[in-house]
Amino acid sequence: MAIVEIKNLTHIYGRGSVFEKAALKNINLSIEKGEFVSIIGHTGSGKSTLIQHLNGLIKPTEGNVLIDSVDITKKGIMLRDIRKEVGLVFQYPEYQLFEETIEKDVAFGPINQGLSGEELKERVRDAIESVGLDYEELKDKSPFELSGGQKRRVAIAGVIAMEPKILILDEPTAGLDPAGRDEILGEIKNIYDKKKITIILVSHSMEDVAKIANRLIVMNEGEILMDGSPREVFKREDELVKAGLGVPQITSFMRALKRKGADINDDCITVEEAKVEIEKYLRGRNA
Ligand code: ADP
Repeated sequence: MAIVEIKNLTHIYGRGSVFEKAALKNINLSIEKGEFVSIIGHTGSGKSTLIQHLNGLIKPTEGNVLIDSVDITKKGIMLRDIRKEVGLVFQYPEYQLFEETIEKDVAFGPINQGLSGEELKERVRDAIESVGLDYEELKDKSPFELSGGQKRRVAIAGVIAMEPKILILDEPTAGLDPAGRDEILGEIKNIYDKKKITIILVSHSMEDVAKIANRLIVMNEGEILMDGSPREVFKREDELVKAGLGVPQITSFMRALKRKGADINDDCITVEEAKVEIEKYLRGRNA
């Protein structure tokens, strides 16, 4: 069953002004419950505009957005109800931490939802632990005492604590070192596996999306250029390059090896897959 349905969605900023810009052009998209979708695209391709339509932050110029069969673009829809369904983690969410303690920060959303007492405490504990942090050790600390990666995880926990059915993350690994990136991606994957929610992840990193997403949507100039599994999408390297994107480095490497004459499968999209393929190739050569 579709949990997100976008129908003929167009968004124009600054309509009628000299700054008029069609950021989304007649988008049609359906996302099933439980999918892990990644949206990729060059800066300015419309990714942020698209995801902000999914929790009602931006209204369409034309078209409709349905979340769990409810048209959230209709008059009379309460944003509060949408936010319960759709959790949005903005870019650099750690800048939005503001409470004195980590516990209070993560509790902010659930308190607004009316939770209190033991139920609230359990919700906060579960959210903090679901991003791989130690609740007892951290709950009374200030969020500002944490490292960059930990702060970001606390900010993600604040959204998880509202138990959304759809979790949207805008570039959750931006600005982190490779270890911090892998950690956050691992936590997101764990949350997906454990909570069986729908995840939409906006990313610039082909490596990240190849590792984690079941489905890739490629945006270009306000339109959907491609929509398929990471393997299908990365086969269309020339078109990706034209859209200012590329394929994972390991895929380029394997394709270069193949061009040099190595008899290998160059369809690999992760380092793990490539390792298996290269070992197979070397065994074949030594046989
Ligand atoms: P992305 O997230 O892929 O970088 P955006 O959705 O932010 O893309 O932007 C899509 C287009 O809309 C860009 O050309 C951008 O300059 C323009 N845009 C985004 N936000 C605004 C705004 N608030 N006012 C005017 N134009 C905007």
